[in-house]
This record gives sequence, structure tokens and C-alpha cells, in this order.
Amino acid sequence: MIEVKHLVKRYGDKKAVNDISFKVEKGEILGFLGPNGAGKSTTMNMLTGYISSTSGQILINGVDVLEEPKKAKASIGYLPEIPPLYVDMTVDAYLNFVFDLKKCKLPRKAHLNDVCNLCKISDVRKRLIKNLSKGYKQRVGLAQALINNPPVLILDEPTVGLDPNQIIEIRSLIKKLGKRHTVILSSHILPEIQAVCDRIIIINKGVVAADGTADEIARNITNEHKMTLRIEGPDHSRAEKEQIVTALRNISGVKYVRADMEREKGIYDYDVETDGKTDVRRDINKLCFDNGWNILMLQLSDLTLEDIFLKITMGEGFGHDESEKGVAAKGKKPKVRINLMTEEEAEAAEQAAREAAEEAAGEAQDEKGDEE
Ligand code: ADP
Repeated sequence: MIEVKHLVKRYGDKKAVNDISFKVEKGEILGFLGPNGAGKSTTMNMLTGYISSTSGQILINGVDVLEEPKKAKASIGYLPEIPPLYVDMTVDAYLNFVFDLKKCKLPRKAHLNDVCNLCKISDVRKRLIKNLSKGYKQRVGLAQALINNPPVLILDEPTVGLDPNQIIEIRSLIKKLGKRHTVILSSHILPEIQAVCDRIIIINKGVVAADGTADEIARNITNEHKMTLRIEGPDHSRAEKEQIVTALRNISGVKYVRADMEREKGIYDYDVETDGKTDVRRDINKLCFDNGWNILMLQLSDLTLEDIFLKITMGEGFGHDESEKGVAAKGKKPKVRINLMTEEEAEAAEQAAREAAEEAAGEAQDEKGDEE
């Protein structure tokens, strides 16, 4: 569906994007994650044909963005970080304007009704965009991206500035859209990427530092190849625990097994380490099934996505030069500035921004009066 080959964007001497390649399959929700200045927006802007690349190729549905920009762009709905809204228009007037701009051939009334229903903005269609809350404005931004039903949606930081309820709504809407569209979204909020995306590309310093599901990335960057299992046998006994340890040790590819804590009466956790080459999960599943044991939990790695992100962007993973690896190894502060927030921190920052914006809007409203 989307194929990016050796993409480079140079600004003077600086390579903002330095030889990025990746593919996105139909119906996939791909998350772009990376610190500030990593090259996420530059990549998205090239994908949407908004800026040109210095070299490399982008194919959308087999169409080259540089060779046939109009045709390629027709397959893409784009929501930039700052939605392109004409705030003095009503929602209806604006969406009709976008409909004309995109030369949409779908039945106007039915299509706009569908898009508005999907984005839950039907109740504000007659209102001026400037009088809408940030959450509604963002949904109008999504609605404009959806006009003409593009197979690909590119969303740059779609939940920035929204309150927690609005964030949940937009996330579930994106998940829903992922069923019908191929979606690429960027975010600096790690739990968001984890909650919404099937696959993650971590971009750092203009290169792809990691590509895969959170589990795959975790397995690739740790040499430990550890997992924790919680297994329940019918006897709930210590003898059974020893039997489980022995059986796990006999699985080909397993290097080390240790029974850990008793989590519930007679139910233990088992730390399993593999040779790093063999995926033993199916063998473990079969072993447990054959013996009538229940797997209550299988956790591949203790690393959270946040740990992985830090490891990679601080130089303990890949995509870094030796000097920075040295800095990280010596435990000094890395040179990379990481825009890394937990969900709580992001919410607190956004709450503060919202309050400031509401205060400013309130003052403006007092001066001008409501226009509706
Ligand atoms: P991100 O979206 O990951 O925060 P960007 O793609 O915006 O990162 O930026 C990548 C790098 O390219 C940064 O170092 C940024 O300063 C630089 N850059 C982006 N746009 C321009 C521009 N128009 N001119 C010069 N440098 C730019």
C-alpha cells in the first residue's frame, strides 16, 4: 500500500531524513515515534507530497508521489499537526468547500453525512469552527481528511491539546478508521502509540532506529530473550512446580528456567531464557496443553515501550554513533533531547494548555460576545 525507499531530505548540509525505507500494508495502523527533531514531520510531509524529497522514492498504491503527485495525493487524507481549518466558516460550509477542492465524485449529501456521523460532528455542522472546542476542531480536521474516502490516512500528532475524554474518543475513532484505511500516525505519547498502533517505527536522527510490533522491537533490542510465564497445574503442589521446571528446560531452544514467586496458592511464575534464535512460545503452549497446565500469563520482556524508546534514543540500541554510545554507557546525560512524557505528564501539560486557552477564549468572548 505504501512503500518508501531510501528517502532522503537535506536542508543545506543537514540531513533531516537520512535514507529511510519502510513498507506499510493495507489496513495497518503504523505509529511514528521519535524525539523532537527526529524527522517524523519531514517524512510525513514527503509522504503527502507537501514537500519534495532530495532523493528516494515513495509509492502510494503503486503510484510514485514525485512522478504522479495528483494521482498519489488523491489516495491520501492528511491531518497535519495544526489542522487546516477556515475558522470563520461553519463546519458544513468548510466540509463542502473541501469536497469541491478534492473534486469528490461521491454523492455529496450522503458522503458528508457519513463522514460527519463517523467523526461525531453531526450536531455541530451549523456552527462556526472558531466557536468549537479543540476536540471538535480536531474531529472536523479528521473529517476533512476523510472526504473522498482516501485509502491512506496520515495523521500528525492527532491528539495534541485534547483533554483525556477527547483523547479516548479520537483514539477509538482512529482504531475504527484503521479497519477501512491504512493509517500512519505520529505521536510523542508512548501509551498512545501502544494503544492504537499495530506496528511502530521509531525514528531517531533521521533514520529508522526500530521497526516492528512492540514485542518484536523488545526482542530485537534485548540480548536477554527472557520471558516470564505464570502456569497453573491441577495439583497446585511443589512437586508439580519442579515437574514444570524440568519440562520447560527440556524444550529445544530454552537455556535457563527458574521458578520464581508463588503468585497464588500453588501457582508460580517461571523465568525462561532462550538461546535468542528460537521462538519457543508455541512449544511451551503445546507442553502446557498436553499436560493439562493453564498458562495464566506469558510476558515476553520486562521492557516497556518507554524503556525501549529510551534505550534506542540514548544510544544503547542502534542508529547511533559510537560517541553517543560512550556517553550513554558512562551514564552521563545523553545529548539527544527526548520529548518523552508519560500519559499523566502529557495530560497535565495539556490540561494547563487547555486552561490557558479557555481563559484566553473567555476573555476574547467577553470582548466580542458570542457570534452565534
Ligand atoms: P520531528 O517531526 O520528528 O520533530 P522534523 O521532521 O520536524 O522532526 O525535523 C527534523 C530535522 O529537520 C530537525 O533538525 C529540524 O530542525 C530540521 N528541519 C525541519 N524543517 C526544516 C526546514 N524547513 N529547514 C531547515 N531544517 C529543517
